[in-house]
Parts: sequence; C-alpha cells; structure tokens
Amino acid sequence: MTLLVGGVELGGTKCVLAVAKSPIEILHRAVVPTENPKKTLQNIFDFFSDYELNRIGIGTFGPVILDSESKDYGLLISESKKGWKNINLSREFSNNLQVDTTIDTDVNAAAIGEYRYGVGKDSQTIVYVTIGTGIGGGLLVNGKSHTGDFHLELGHMRIPNADNFAGICKFHGDCWEGLASGPSMEKRWGISASELSEPHPAWDKEAELLAYGIVSIIANHSPDKIILGGGVMKQKQLYPKVRSEVLRIWNDYTPLGNLSEMIVEPGLGLDSGIVGALILGGGPAQI
Ligand SMILES: [Zn+2]
Repeated sequence: MTLLVGGVELGGTKCVLAVAKSPIEILHRAVVPTENPKKTLQNIFDFFSDYELNRIGIGTFGPVILDSESKDYGLLISESKKGWKNINLSREFSNNLQVDTTIDTDVNAAAIGEYRYGVGKDSQTIVYVTIGTGIGGGLLVNGKSHTGDFHLELGHMRIPNADNFAGICKFHGDCWEGLASGPSMEKRWGISASELSEPHPAWDKEAELLAYGIVSIIANHSPDKIILGGGVMKQKQLYPKVRSEVLRIWNDYTPLGNLSEMIVEPGLGLDSGIVGALILGGGPAQI
C-alpha cells in the first residue's frame, strides 16, 4: 500500500490542509481558521487522524527554527501571530499524530510548489513574494530553499520612505511590510485595500513601494523568476505597474531581460503553498 502524504499551509488567518497521493493528486482538503494554537492544532489533528501518513510537510508563518539538527526544529520563536510563540510544530505533530514532519517557511513552500509544478519549472533562482496581511519572501536556488543561518525575512528589509509614513510593522515601523502590506495600505488610505477602486492613486504608490523591495531582491539574488502572490496582488494592474517601476528604479544598470516573464503571477494560483507543503511531505529527497 502506498502511504499518503499530508500537507499543511499554516498561515496567519487560515490553514490549508491536504492529504494526497502525490503533490498534485489531492484526495482530501480542508481549510480551518488560524485561531489560538490549542484549538487550531486540534482541528488540524482531527483532519489527519483518519489517515495513515508517511510524513507531513508544513509551510508555516515564521519566524521558525528550520535547522533540522536542532532540538528546537519547528519552534515558532516570535509572537508574530498572537499566542503562537514557543509552539513547537514538529513536537506537536509527533506527539499527537505520531508522524514526522518536514518544515519550511510558507513562502519557501510556495516557491517549491511553483518550481516543481508552476511557473518556476525552468528557473535556476526563484523568489516567491507574498503581499497580503504581511510581506514574506522565499528563495530557491536550483530547487533548494535557501535558509541561511536562520531564514530570510525579505518583508523586513528597509526601503525608501520619502513621505515618512509611520508604517505598521510592530518591530520596525516602516520596513517593506510596514509600508506595503495590505494593512499598511489601509492605514495610509483609510480604506481596506480590497475596497480601493482600480483608478485610485494608491495602486501607483503600492507599485513603487513593491518595486523598491524587488529591486533590492534583484541586487542581492539576481533571480530569473520573481513570483508575486498574496491578497494584494489580486489587483492585477499591479503587475505591469510594478514591472515599469522596477525598470525605472534599476535604470538599465544591468539587462533585466523580459520583465513580463521575470515578474509573474503564481502558476498554481492559490495552491502554490499547499502543493509545496505536500512536496515537503514527500521528504527532502523528493524536492
Ligand atoms: Zn518589519
């Protein structure tokens, strides 16, 4: 009997859960809200309890310890989501479901999903950026997630803030996430990003702010694919606006090629993260 794999995309507002034969043959999926850890984890364990699973792959919000040699592997170390600091995901799954886990950040998982099955198939260096309630970025080099000593926190890089907007990041105020996430747009314009009309000047400002971060990513990592996902990017006009702002700011310093092919939408739509988590659930050798 082929054992099934499990996948969890643990996000700030909801968790996507799946049981699958392969990363793109999902047999059963569910979405549960991310509430306090006790209730949320119980809902997750209830979902998986009927299955005999080989392993569960988890793409999670961070910051989280990803060093698999560490006794604290899977430990959430910050109160980035209220109540979740000091929860050890690896230990929780092992104690409650007797199953091993492979854990990465939610954005690395999304990048892995896109590399295997989405728009990143032929790319050597992929950056996946999600722009929603926060900003996060994952980096893959030749299909392997780059975590470095801890893991990347692209959303917390600094970008120019010419109008001295205070920003919304609890830790830094006006970092990239503080200036360009969905909640930051709401604070700047006094209306939820999802309700801003298409012609509103907010989108030109947002494109400029996103492009500043993307230009820094280009300068640091020279990616051949930058995938922009998350709720804010539902505003499709942002893609061409961001590309033209990147061109303007980079100012022809090096050739960037065809930006329509470099700065793109996720090929898997909203499924990049859960597909990536299922790939992780297949074990590191599968990636
Ligand atoms: Zn920050």
